[in-house]
This record gives sequence, C-alpha cells and structure tokens, in this order.
Amino acid sequence: MSRRPIIAGNWKMNNTKAETTELLTALKPLVADAAAEVVVCVPYTAIDTAASIIKGSNIKLGAENVHWAEKGAFTGEISAKMLVELGVEYVIIGHSERRQYFGETDQTVNMRVKAALAAGLKPIICVGESLEEREAGKTEEVVTRQTKAAFDGIGKENIENTVIAYEPIWAIGTGKTATAEEANATIKVIRDTMAELYCAKCAEEKVRIQYGGSMNPKNAKELMAQPNIDGGLIGGASLKAVDFSQVVKY
Ligand code: PEP
Repeated sequence: MSRRPIIAGNWKMNNTKAETTELLTALKPLVADAAAEVVVCVPYTAIDTAASIIKGSNIKLGAENVHWAEKGAFTGEISAKMLVELGVEYVIIGHSERRQYFGETDQTVNMRVKAALAAGLKPIICVGESLEEREAGKTEEVVTRQTKAAFDGIGKENIENTVIAYEPIWAIGTGKTATAEEANATIKVIRDTMAELYCAKCAEEKVRIQYGGSMNPKNAKELMAQPNIDGGLIGGASLKAVDFSQVVKY
C-alpha cells in the first residue's frame, strides 16, 4: 500500500502575517522529522509570508479556496494561476463552511477542482454530512453524491493529485468527533465510490482520504490507526504549533 499519510492544517480566517511568522517558525523544527506529509492551508494574505518561512522545510503550502475561472470580472476572487505563482501546492475545495455560508454547491466544487488540477494544484476536496442528514440515515448517500459530483469529468490520471477530506459537519469545531470506527466506515464508502468511478486498484493504492472534525493530539493516534484513514484535515488544533505537531506525529 503506497498511501502516504497527509496531515493538513486549515487555518480558516486566522493569523495575520506576524502571527503566521510566529506559528510557522515554531512549527518547522517540531515537524522536521515527520513521516507524514505536512501541509498548512493559510489565508490568502498569509501565503507570501508562509512561503518564505517554510522554504527549504518539509512543510507544504496550501490555500483555502480557489476560483474556477482563469481570470476576469470576479471581484474578490483568486485564481489558480495566482496561487501557483506564490508557491501554493494544495488547495482546500468545498469546505462545509464554504458550502454552508457562501453558496458553494456540488457543481461549483467540481468547477474549482477542474481549475485547480488544470493549473497544477492539488485539491483537498471536502465532503461530509450535516447532523440532520446523519440522523436521517443519509450519511452514505450524501458523501457518495458529493464525491461523484466533485470528480465528474476528472480523469484517472489526476487521482493521485487529489486528496479527499471526510468531514462530518457536526464534528467541525464542536469538540465532537466521529468515533474512529464510524469515520473509517464512512471513508470506506468514499473509497468504494472512487473504486466505482475509477478502479479498485487505484482507489486502494492512490486515493488518500483524510478525516476532519475536532481531530487533536488526543484522538489522532486512534483515528490514524484505522485502515482507511490516510490523514487529517485539522482546524482548531492547527493554530498551535505544539498541538499541530503532535497530530502530525500521531
Ligand atoms: C475543519 O475546519 O476542517 C476542521 C476539521 O476543523 P476542527 O478541527 O476545528 O474541527
């Protein structure tokens, strides 16, 4: 099995340039010997600062969103080419906060994924059910629909350049975590969907699927021990260097 674990921080709307300098300067030595791939997804305004601080280290740079158009009259938006120019490698797409507060749909997620891949960025595609959907027994249906829509029209050659993050919405920033077994079972559903869309061998060997939702130094080890969980997308715990490094080194 060649799925290298990947732990990515999602800073959301946190950290000025000065705070970015402080956090990443502290983080660098703490994760220098990590076995997992380490990514920090930072606000647009911190990208340049982050890039200069992590240069030459094993920390990779990510953004938190990207627009689907190459350029044009889209006030306030940022294109894939602009991110590539700044040294960005990964980009979060379809985070539940984008879906919930900013009108992100399965279709716009797919458009962003296509634009990111075309520019050479690696999308971290978020899927996950709300509490209401979970209680209605719709978890599998929701993540299957979101996965199929996100990958619509995406060729098999791009699979190893994408990461999927399974993030049950009710577990994000709430301190509630899916049990390791629950997370593993839903991630297996996503992997099976990828097997159906592409092939069983590529789903098994090339598709990396993270868990996200209140992952922290205390629960990371148990979650990462699950056979289908290949990493984590970390919100709150990525804002403290020591906490994030402990998740990275689960
Ligand atoms: C997230 O926003 O992607 C996330 C997982 O947040 P938290 O770790 O704070 O639940």
